Parts: sequence; C-alpha cells; structure tokens
Amino acid sequence: MGDGAFSNVYRARDVRGEYGEVAIKVVRKYELNSSQNDDHLHPDFKKVPKTRSNILKEVQIMRGLNHPNIVSLISFSESRNYYYLVLELCPGGELFHQIVRLTYFSENLGRHVIVQVAEALRYLHEEKGVVHRDIKPENLLFESIPFIPTKNPKPRGPEDEDKADEGEFLPGIGAGGIGRIKVADFGLSKIVWDTQTMTPCGTVGYTAPEIVKDERYSKSVDMWAMGCVLYTLLCGFPPFYDESISVLTEKVAKGQYTFLSPWWDDISKSAQDLVSHLLTVDPEKRYTIQEFMAHPWVRGTDEETTAAP
Ligand code: ADP
Ligand code: MG
Repeated sequence: MGDGAFSNVYRARDVRGEYGEVAIKVVRKYELNSSQNDDHLHPDFKKVPKTRSNILKEVQIMRGLNHPNIVSLISFSESRNYYYLVLELCPGGELFHQIVRLTYFSENLGRHVIVQVAEALRYLHEEKGVVHRDIKPENLLFESIPFIPTKNPKPRGPEDEDKADEGEFLPGIGAGGIGRIKVADFGLSKIVWDTQTMTPCGTVGYTAPEIVKDERYSKSVDMWAMGCVLYTLLCGFPPFYDESISVLTEKVAKGQYTFLSPWWDDISKSAQDLVSHLLTVDPEKRYTIQEFMAHPWVRGTDEETTAAP
C-alpha cells in the first residue's frame, strides 16, 4: 500500500478471520542500527529516519491510543530481520493522492477533512500528551475509498482546466460522502510533559527551563502542519515551496507565503484568516487546538461536517 525508505506497508488478511483485512507495516531491522543523531533534521532530510528506539516508541505510543480518527495498532511482533506493525486497514489511501486527483477541495469538503484531523489532534494533545510531529497529506488516510458523485465547481487556476470535470467529493461520513479520515504514522511522535498537571511524565520539578519551554511549544508544531495541510487542501499546492532546500528553509523560517491569485481569489476571507493564524511564526501566538475549534470557519454552517465524526 505504501513504501517508505525503511518500511513497506502491505495489505493482508488475517487467516484466522479475527481481524479480516489489515495493513502490515514491515520495518527492516538491519537498517535501524545507526547511532547518528539527526534529531535536529526535518523528517524528510533524515539520512536514517528509523532507529530501533523509534520503532518501539511508535508502538508504545500507538498502543495507548483509541480514537475514530487515528489508525489503530492491532498487534506488534518481530522476527530476526523485521518488525511488524499490524494496523487497521485504510483502503481509501492517502489524502495526498486525493488532492492530486481532485486538484483542490471545496471549502466544505476541506472543512470536513481538517476537522477530523483536528479531532485527532485534540485527543492526542489534550488527553494523551502526544505530539505527532509528522502531520502531512501522506500520513492522513481515508477509511474507505472516496466516492465522486458530482462535478467539480470550477477551475481555480489556468492549469486546473483539464481536471475541471473530474468531479467533487461530498463531505459527510455516510453514503455519498468522502468518509472518515485517520491519522497514521506515529514514527516521529513523542510524549510531552504537561506542565500544568505534571502528567504523563511525572517529575517536572527537576526539568530544565529550556526543556519545559520546548515541550510547551511542541504541540504547536502540529498546528503549523495542520495549517499547511489546510492551505494545500483549499488551493491544491503547499504554502511553502522552492526547489532549493536552503531557500525553502528560509521561506519557512520567515513564514513567507501568500494567498496566491487567482487560486485564492474565490476562497473565503474566513478560511484565509484561519490559515494565517495557523501559519504564524511565533508559536506563542499561533492558534492552539482550542482556538482552532472555536474559529467561525471551523464551526461553519454545514451540519454534516460539524456533526462528524
Ligand atoms: P513511513 O514511516 O515509512 O512514512 P507510514 O506509516 O507513513 O510509514 O506508511 C507509509 C505509507 O503506507 C503511508 O503513507 C500510506 O500510503 C501507507 N499506509 C500506512 N498505513 C496504512 C494503513 N493502515 N492502511 C492503508 N495504507 C497505509
Ligand atoms: Mg509516513
């Protein structure tokens, strides 16, 4: 179903019939034993993205999770050369592919999708003290195969025209709707310390200020990423892009993005306002999950969307 640099994901059937169809993430062990510290690198630029402790952490974190918008871990085992993560199957595939297929999502459809991602993040951030740290369209999966019942509204940019009649998904979980979306890939996720309740890690009393500060900001990385996903959903291309990694890094650091015309001309001011509160460089000013949920664009008027999931 998907291939990473160090893992392959297969669709499989439980022959005992207990779980039916599942996804199995197979991670090769022999490429894991690197001690190289690349924690400071963006996941996409890591030379060795998976270490043994990363896999065990991914499993440990996933075991503690139970939410309709998060891919569940069914079981974990290992052989001499591989780790096996047996996962709930999401046959609908990556949000990434659906954006490519559709060019962009309508505001209602975009809301339907991003609200479900936000529900997952609210659960992770507020109930579990977990930050995902790798929220992106490749790691957001559809539970079922998306159905395309109607025509696409209209092209937003010149090169969209050839895709204009490919159709549009409808929001909603039930028949005819695009269905449920689930957050996958906890390979970079981390448990953070809640400085208020001192859970789940306990002795914060001895923690250095730079760490406490770090932890406070770490949830905000998921909010930034969600802003990038929302931006991309609505217009079909990411907020930050450059062929040169150093230029791209500079643009991200400065928060240099625009609501590019003509693609953004017909997207509501309310949606743009929400995106700009997520793509705020200062993590203290960036929207938290609570502020996101309270924004008028998220609360919306589309009943089906606000009732989901
Ligand atoms: P990696 O750490 O290599 O990015 P992921 O967990 O993101 O591993 O899995 C890689 C890809 O495999 C995903 O982007 C997705 O396309 C596919 N995949 C992963 N888990 C599932 C699943 N439960 N159901 C369907 N496809 C999946
Ligand atoms: Mg992934």
